[in-house]
Amino acid sequence: MTEKECASKNIITEGMRYVSEKEKIPAEKLVQNIIEGKTVILRNKAKNKFVGIGKDLSTKINASIGTSTNHINLEEEIIKAAVAEKSGADTLMELSVGGDLDLIRNEVLKNTSLPVGTVPLYQAFREAIDTYKNPVKMPGDLVLDVIEKQCEDGVSFMAIHSGLNLMSLERLKKQSYRYAGLVSKGGAYMIAWMIENNKENPLYERFGDVLKILKKYDTVLSLGNGLRAGATADSFDRAYMQELLINCELCDIARDYGVQTIVEGPGHIPIDEIEANVKIQKKMSGDAPFYVLGPLVTDVAAGYDHISSAVGGALSSSFGADFLCYVTPAEHLGLPSAEDVEIGVKSAKIAAHIGDMVKLKKTGDDLNISKARRDIDWGSQFKYSIDPEYSRTVFKSKNEDDAAGCSMCGEFCAPLRVKKYFRHEIKYGKKS
Ligand code: SF4
Repeated sequence: MTEKECASKNIITEGMRYVSEKEKIPAEKLVQNIIEGKTVILRNKAKNKFVGIGKDLSTKINASIGTSTNHINLEEEIIKAAVAEKSGADTLMELSVGGDLDLIRNEVLKNTSLPVGTVPLYQAFREAIDTYKNPVKMPGDLVLDVIEKQCEDGVSFMAIHSGLNLMSLERLKKQSYRYAGLVSKGGAYMIAWMIENNKENPLYERFGDVLKILKKYDTVLSLGNGLRAGATADSFDRAYMQELLINCELCDIARDYGVQTIVEGPGHIPIDEIEANVKIQKKMSGDAPFYVLGPLVTDVAAGYDHISSAVGGALSSSFGADFLCYVTPAEHLGLPSAEDVEIGVKSAKIAAHIGDMVKLKKTGDDLNISKARRDIDWGSQFKYSIDPEYSRTVFKSKNEDDAAGCSMCGEFCAPLRVKKYFRHEIKYGKKS
């Protein structure tokens, strides 16, 4: 049975118990959210590790790794998987498109305890290219075989582009313009496939069969966003909205069938549209967990897109998005290195935390670090920071071992002055 079916029968699973304790949410509330499709539980099947995503839970972050056709190095991908986990990612997407995809996926699965996600279309098109020298020659059934194979291997969640059907293609054609065209790899290949074969997307046409496979393995369905905007100027266009509408309809069908489901969002989006983006998705999908890819709030930050994405991710989370896909400094420029992965994960973690300060009123660590700064208690400042190891290293590299303040202001350190002259006159906070 899937977590959703168990919840419907009021069976408390190991995953529900774990998420309830970790996130300090009463089990009954969590179960109700799962029944209503507002929360999903992902499981790394081999290591039996769980991650809850959705209503009343902290915002989670995903790190995507994987080879390209230009750069294939299994060892590097395994290192990136380890770096992502160590840096605090909650899930990992293995998105390889070059090399032996079965081998890479299975080695990554062996080397991480995070729930792993995939985009099955990548492998289906890869195999079509290898076999027929042409992705549009992909037999429609192949993608279902790939889904089953990846489920068997232990993949926890899959981005499946079922919402990209002939209706959304028609909408895209009618719209007839886009500044940045299409930026989803799976989406672009699927559109080419539909046009060349003059057929419906098999992931839409055979959505019932897709669900049967996912249900058998309790693999979480993440309804992919193949028409997401790749430019802020393209955000919220009619083609995107059409696909979102279809994804929300499919989300209802999947949840009624007992499959845990997430809906994906953009992409590139101006900052003033983020609130509407989250609220529209939440309303149309019946509060399904919302997975945003970034989002990037400007198109000009190449080399710094992790910052653009952190701004978009923080706002999205504050308005209710549940799951952020990280963006690394290499976005739009090249395949990320292990160092890029680390920076991307930490940037997304900060974004998720900022969002949770508003969404869940999670301000405890901020309060603790503020008091530690007041008291110039360096140990606590490191402890409550988002990256204790890094903040300690920076401090040590810039200060003497017995430093009271730090080299930023030297003897002009305000908290030191306050400590010396005003200790008894100033009331520190409300409770301490
Ligand atoms: S020297 Fe300046 S930056 Fe450093 S602890 Fe004091 S006030 Fe803060």
